[in-house]
This record gives sequence, structure tokens and C-alpha cells, in this order.
Amino acid sequence: MDSVKYDTLQEENLLRFESVCMRCGRCCGSKDGDPCAKLRTNSDRRYYCEIYRDRLGPQKTVSGRVFNCVPIREMAKYGYARPDCAYNNARQ
Ligand code: SF4
Ligand code: SF4
Repeated sequence: MDSVKYDTLQEENLLRFESVCMRCGRCCGSKDGDPCAKLRTNSDRRYYCEIYRDRLGPQKTVSGRVFNCVPIREMAKYGYARPDCAYNNARQ
């Protein structure tokens, strides 16, 4: 596979996964009492990341606890996504 086809396939996979996301915010701590400081909600109570394109790597929760933001697609691939995450049912 040439690099252009590979990049196109990667982009399609990214969009496919993002389209199944329920925007529940659970992977960012929305229900844990100390969510990521970059987690936001819109008017219909769906969550989004304030820095999505630059999210990966060290981040802080609202209380200041440091953690690593990781790709949820990869977590799902290896069985580490939350049980109720929609990514678990998306084709890798
Ligand atoms: S930085 Fe990561 S953990 Fe924080 S809101 Fe964005 S995606 Fe979620
Ligand atoms: S837990 Fe899964 S479905 Fe919910 S916001 Fe995170 S990636 Fe999307």
C-alpha cells in the first residue's frame, strides 16, 4: 500500500471511530468526580475535548492530578476501553 492510500485509510478509520462516539465523556472522567480539566460540555450535554488535536500526552484533572491522555481507539483494540464505550463495537 502506498503512503497516500495508507494516510487516506487512517483518516477514514479515524472518522469512522469518531462517528460512533457517544460523547459521554466517560473516558475523560465525566462520571468519576475528577474529570480532565480540558473536558467541556455543549448545550445538549454532550462532551468534547477543548484541545482535541493536541490532547495526547500528560494532562491534569480538575483537582490537579496528572495523567496521560491516550488514544481510546488503541485502548479498545487491546480490550482496555471502558465496558460501555462505543469504540468496543466499532470495526478496527
Ligand atoms: S485531553 Fe484527553 S482526557 Fe482530557 S478532555 Fe481531552 S481527550 Fe479527554
Ligand atoms: S467513553 Fe467511548 S463513547 Fe464515551 S466519549 Fe469516550 S470514546 Fe466516546
